[in-house]
Amino acid sequence: MKDIFKLDGKVAIVNGGAGGIGEVLSMGLSIHGATVVISDLNQEATEKTAQKIKSETNGEVIGLAANVTDEKSVEDLMQTVLKKYGKLDIVINAMGVNLKRDAFDYPMEDWDKIFNVNVKGTMIACKMAGRVMREQKQGSIINLSSVRGQRGYTGGNTGYCATKGAVEMITKALALEWAADNIRVNALGPALIITPGTQHIADNPELAKKYAQAVPMGRIGQTKDLVGACVFLASEASSFMTGQTLFVDGGLTAG
Ligand code: NAD
Repeated sequence: MKDIFKLDGKVAIVNGGAGGIGEVLSMGLSIHGATVVISDLNQEATEKTAQKIKSETNGEVIGLAANVTDEKSVEDLMQTVLKKYGKLDIVINAMGVNLKRDAFDYPMEDWDKIFNVNVKGTMIACKMAGRVMREQKQGSIINLSSVRGQRGYTGGNTGYCATKGAVEMITKALALEWAADNIRVNALGPALIITPGTQHIADNPELAKKYAQAVPMGRIGQTKDLVGACVFLASEASSFMTGQTLFVDGGLTAG
């Protein structure tokens, strides 16, 4: 039982792996023993992130660009990984975008853009991973939802909230559809997490206080807060769990 969190010998792809959360989750997987493929839009960024993690963990970490909105691109990514490592155990879908727009004037081309990455991209990444995992009769997929998949929010977030609600339902529906193939599909639901993209909030004392006060634990999340839940969902420790969103939110969704 002492090895249930170990990821030695596991092969993981992290989509959006060069992003703020993706990088730290990749680091966590590597520290716990997994071979990690950092995937993101830009090849240079994936390689830079891979190199950074490798230099700290000494693990096997590579960067391979792919666009989750393009089926062929994701299929090529899976095939390259299979050719190089022979299997695929874990896929983390940590890509995502938000376009904050006033709802009265929400431009539908922006609605399409955010749904394209957050919803269609998640489905494509799951579908391509699922095909590989079906052959292996095992696998763990972890999608990035948000507390906004459960709780609405003002400030132009209608599109974002809607996409995260969809990510949670993709997670549940696929979990049911693929349970017999031993493919587990779960999600992480973070509250606000400080990344390069949200650093401006931490840097603005008034804004930071507002966000922290909304969280029962009274603080904003750090990327490292997500690592334990991610390793748990990726590993044998969660072997009888599927279709769940694990909220890492300082108690926000408890109320
Ligand atoms: P981020 O912007 O730092 O990283 C997102 C990454 O996704 C970027 O590197 C980007 O290049 C990549 N990406 C975008 N479109 C892509 C595509 N078509 N194909 C492949 N990669 C693509 O954002 P983050 O803060 O790290 O967020 C990661 C995930 O966590 C997102 O789904 C986000 O909605 C979710 N989330 C973030 C927070 C937060 O406060 N940071 C809170 C809750 C949920």
